[in-house]
Amino acid sequence: MSNFTAAALRLALEGLYRTSPNPRVGCVIVDPSGAIVGQGSTQRAGGPHAEIMALRDAHEHGYSVIGATAYVTLEPCSHQGRTGPCCDALVNAGIVKVVASIADPNPLVSGRGFARLRAAGVQVEVGPGAEGSRELNLGFFSRMVRKTPWVRMKVAASLDGVTALPSGASQWITGPDARADGHAWRARACAVLTGIGTVLADDPRLDAREVQTDRQPALVLVDSALQVPLDASLFVADRAVYIYTSIENDSKMHALEARGATVVFMPNGRGKVDLAAMVRDLGCREINELHVEAGYKLNGSLVREGLVDELLVYLAPKLLGEGYGMLQWGPLTELSQALALDFTALDRVGSDVRLLARVAGRDRF
Ligand SMILES: [Zn+2]
Repeated sequence: MSNFTAAALRLALEGLYRTSPNPRVGCVIVDPSGAIVGQGSTQRAGGPHAEIMALRDAHEHGYSVIGATAYVTLEPCSHQGRTGPCCDALVNAGIVKVVASIADPNPLVSGRGFARLRAAGVQVEVGPGAEGSRELNLGFFSRMVRKTPWVRMKVAASLDGVTALPSGASQWITGPDARADGHAWRARACAVLTGIGTVLADDPRLDAREVQTDRQPALVLVDSALQVPLDASLFVADRAVYIYTSIENDSKMHALEARGATVVFMPNGRGKVDLAAMVRDLGCREINELHVEAGYKLNGSLVREGLVDELLVYLAPKLLGEGYGMLQWGPLTELSQALALDFTALDRVGSDVRLLARVAGRDRF
């Protein structure tokens, strides 16, 4: 991977809290002398893509891009968006070569951008930075390929795996740095999912207020009996709220809709919400990354149904002994029944430890 691709990936990262449901993409334009003449990253959905931003950047500085190479972290689009197809913009600007990290995962458009560029005489190279671009956009790739979001379950626990005392007390087990870090993970997600038990116990807002972002993730609530109070704190201004339920209660439903929520009737036939159908429905609603912050019952149900892709775990240097664990699941009878995970990251956050653990094989799609 060249320095130019690395620079394009850094630009892509700038879109972490911004571009959803579009992918985070960066672009660097390099002139024939090897100088960077334009840089850009994808703006909010409906705004310009990275390639357009990089071309504008070059233009604003008076740099020529004729004969230049564009390094871009995803296949340039060939379809008509608000700013026109990026392929045409690159060709019309005089770009002669495109180095793209990876093809667009959308089966309806994958490869078309490259074909359009090649047809216009542009040299196309694909591959440098592919893994970094895919990881940064794993939720987008998941939604395009599997039709469901990438589901990340966040848990804060003591070193002995306790997430709440028998009394239910859970605030706060981890320190302020871990909580702020948790807000950053919410901010990058398209939606935060929780359960009615958490809402009734803690009345959380579950927004991303401890990071700089002008886009708040949507809130998804699993509420089988439609118990959520109309004045719950989760009704934050300008935020989409989806409530999944298994009962039909027209008056409560209308009251919630008047609050701005979307109520989805999705029963599983056993008095609960059909969680698998809910996750598929969230894919249809353009949710790329689904960030779960729920209690141990809902966590257990999501794991039992095979819906969790990754765990984001904060461990505090404390022992709490008896209490609730991370999830209600099992008991298993054999160790071989364990859900196998791969640790993918381990970091110190303030006085706590942050672990990322991916369900083995779940990212192969
Ligand atoms: Zn584009």
